[in-house]
Amino acid sequence: MPRGLHFVAAEATDIGNVRETNEDSALVLAPVYMVADGMGGHNAGEVASAIAVEEFARLGGKEQVDVQTLEERLDVAEQRIIGLHGPDQEGAGTTVALVATAGVQGQAQWLVMNVGDSRVYRLSADGLTQISVDHSVVQELVAHGELTPAEARVHPYRNLITRAVGGGAYCEADHWTIPAAAGDRMLICSDGLTGEVEDDTLEQILRDSSSPRVACTRLVDAALVGGGHDNVTVVVVDAVADAPRP
Ligand code: MN
Repeated sequence: MPRGLHFVAAEATDIGNVRETNEDSALVLAPVYMVADGMGGHNAGEVASAIAVEEFARLGGKEQVDVQTLEERLDVAEQRIIGLHGPDQEGAGTTVALVATAGVQGQAQWLVMNVGDSRVYRLSADGLTQISVDHSVVQELVAHGELTPAEARVHPYRNLITRAVGGGAYCEADHWTIPAAAGDRMLICSDGLTGEVEDDTLEQILRDSSSPRVACTRLVDAALVGGGHDNVTVVVVDAVADAPRP
């Protein structure tokens, strides 16, 4: 890990107000921070998201992760999920949104990876920026100028995703590599948060919270107050400057 920064993280999840199971899974295990939103009948979604977390947890404690290492774990997770054959497990799938910290030539980096419609945001001195791009039908309509983001939020197809890990969907991850700076606060979340809480409110909560722990609790609370129609899961990671050496 590069000198100069360390990372502080927290997670929170809630079943929400209407669902009978929580199919989201989360991982906070340096250098990997991730959210997976499972889908499929019966318990298939829970199993799929848990498999994804289990595979990426194998990177826990590693000094070096890179895009290739992340892709290897994604491939194994996909094969395991496709291979599920228990009752009602056919068609099981999951999103994966993750941030891994890495050092490239001594400079700390955020490696961001996404498949599906869970999201990664960064709060920095420049404000809140959505890093990942949803793999969803409504995102494609927004990109083509056929919907506004506000219309997308309430569109009947808003839950249709165009990529996933398993679920009979195309599984290809997008990657971003972003320099990490002290003061950065990363948010990784399932659509149970972003479907209920607008970006302006996310930014305000992230700015006003004294720690990742506080931010996670307040974000989940906001999703529940907003309706809690889906499972909601959040991971928040801060980049913190190391204390100067004596
Ligand atoms: Mn969801």
